Amino acid sequence: MTIWTKSVWLSLAIFFLAGCSWFRSSPPPPQATRLATGIYHVVKAGENLYRIGKAYDVSFDELAKANRLKDPSQIYVGQRILIPGATRALPVDTIAPVEAAPVARTPPAPLETNGEPLLWPVRGAINSPYGARGASFHDGIDIAAPEGTPIQAIERGEVIYADQLRGYGNIVIVRHPGGITSVYAHNQINLVREGQQVSKGEVIAKVGSTGRVTGPHLHLEIRKNNAAQDPLRYLPQLCCQNASDNVAPKD
Ligand SMILES: [Zn+2]
Repeated sequence: MTIWTKSVWLSLAIFFLAGCSWFRSSPPPPQATRLATGIYHVVKAGENLYRIGKAYDVSFDELAKANRLKDPSQIYVGQRILIPGATRALPVDTIAPVEAAPVARTPPAPLETNGEPLLWPVRGAINSPYGARGASFHDGIDIAAPEGTPIQAIERGEVIYADQLRGYGNIVIVRHPGGITSVYAHNQINLVREGQQVSKGEVIAKVGSTGRVTGPHLHLEIRKNNAAQDPLRYLPQLCCQNASDNVAPKD
């Protein structure tokens, strides 16, 4: 996939262009501030960066970079989010809270401490590896599997996005301990809801061909602090599948 990487330089340029007026400006009106290169969206309750990105048709990766967010899953109500290219504030779908038992949530332990390897979400041939793909960069791996194959969570975590995204079709994003998120895209159907806690191995979606694809497969990304990593460096080695040694991990 390319839409999370295509506008890095544009976003940085926009950020620096916007920076001066940003720091000089007086407090913004509550809804949004119009800029020459975009607007500021003020985060309201129930919104997250993925939903804001969907509303404005800007990838959350682009938003994260334009706003220098280390972790796009951590934004707060009242925060001003620069939306590059936007000309007016748009409504953002909010998340209905999941009805869950009122259990005390203990902070998750780091991934490293459980000592168990991550789970392959589906088994299949790697159609397309992580790394440079022509002029673009593939942020994940494509695992071929028949339509409808169950997709399992690679590790326990919290579903922070389960919806559609341009190019990705039906997509589920799970936040795990240790700053790790996993992304499962092009799903035939998503089987989980935002805010839901999932266990390792839980079936969260089914393989499909939604979004920009040529055939059914799972596009899997593993991100650490929002930087895409080679999933093959995180998943247990299988026969005949090697991490792309020519691509250094991005931290
Ligand atoms: Zn892919």
